[in-house]
Amino acid sequence: RPRRAARPFDGVGRTSDGHRVELLANVGDAATARDAAAAGAEGVGLFRTEFAFANAEVEPSLEAQVAAYLPVFASFAGRKVVIRTLDAGADKPLPFLTGESEANPALGVRGLRTSWEHPDVLDRQLAAIAAAAGRAEADVWVMAPMVATVEETDAFVAACARHGLERAGVMVEIPAAALLAGPILARASFASLGTNDLVQYTMAADRMLGDVARLTTAWQPAVLRLVEATCLGGAQQARPVGVCGEAAADPALACVLLGLGASSLSMGSRALGDVAAALARTSLDECRRLARIATDAESAEAARALVLAEVDWAD
Ligand code: PEP
Ligand code: MG
Repeated sequence: RPRRAARPFDGVGRTSDGHRVELLANVGDAATARDAAAAGAEGVGLFRTEFAFANAEVEPSLEAQVAAYLPVFASFAGRKVVIRTLDAGADKPLPFLTGESEANPALGVRGLRTSWEHPDVLDRQLAAIAAAAGRAEADVWVMAPMVATVEETDAFVAACARHGLERAGVMVEIPAAALLAGPILARASFASLGTNDLVQYTMAADRMLGDVARLTTAWQPAVLRLVEATCLGGAQQARPVGVCGEAAADPALACVLLGLGASSLSMGSRALGDVAAALARTSLDECRRLARIATDAESAEAARALVLAEVDWAD
C-alpha cells in the first residue's frame, strides 16, 4: 500500500489558544536527521545512537563516534538535539557491550544497565558526544535509556558532568521511574517518556508480540496515569518532561499527552504535520479535559473512543 503523503508542517507547534508545544523528531542517523530538518522539526527529541553502532563488532573509536553524531547535530544548528546513550541488550545486541543471551531480555542487562559492567564504554560515548557538541552549534541534551532508580540517575548525571555535559536527563520507560519522577527530576535536568517500553512494562506485555497487542497501547489508562505521575514530578521540580515514544505520533493521544503536562512531543518526522494540525485545533484547556476523560476511562478502548468522540478533527 503506498504511503499517504505526509501532511506539511510549518515548523511551529502550538495549540489553538497559542500555547507552544515543541514538536521534535526521532532520528537514528544523519539521513533521518536531514529528513527531519527538511520536514520542519524544531529539533531532535530522540537520537537513537545504537543505530549508528549496529553491525559494529568492536566499539567504534572516539573519532568514528564523533563522525556519527556530528552530522545529526549539524542538521539542527542552534536547536535542541536530545541524544540517547546506547540502548543495547540481549534483544538489541552489540557484541562489545552485551552479554550472553538472556531468558528475559526485556528484563535483563539493557540500556544504562550495560554501564554496570562497562562504565568505560559509556564514558567514551559521553566523551565523543561532548567532542561533537563542542564542534557543532546544536544545543545538545544527553539522556540515558532504561533508568529505574534515583541512584542510576545520580550516576548518569555525574558521568555527564565529568564531560561538561550539563543537560543530563533520563528516559522514563520503567514504571518505577514514573512513580519516582519527583526525586529523579530533582537530579536530572529533564525526562523523556518512552511510551513504547512504558506500555510493555506496565502491561507486562511484550511490545513485539502480536498476540498481546490488545494490551500494548498507550491508551491504557494505567499507562496514562504513569504519564501523569511523571509530569507531576516534573512540574514539582520545574523540569521539562517530553514524550518520545510512538504515542506522541497519534494526534489524539498527542493532545492527551499535552493535557497531562508533556512539554514536548517527539516522533517520526512524517507524523509532525498531523500532530501539529490536531494541536492547532485544540486549546490547552481542551487537551486537559481530554486527558481527564482518557485517564478516568476504564479501558484503552473506552479512553480512545471517548476522546475521539470529543474532537471534530479525527476521522
Ligand atoms: C520507547 O521505549 O518508547 C522509546 C522511545 O525507546 P525505544 O523505542 O528505542 O525503546
Ligand atoms: Mg525504550
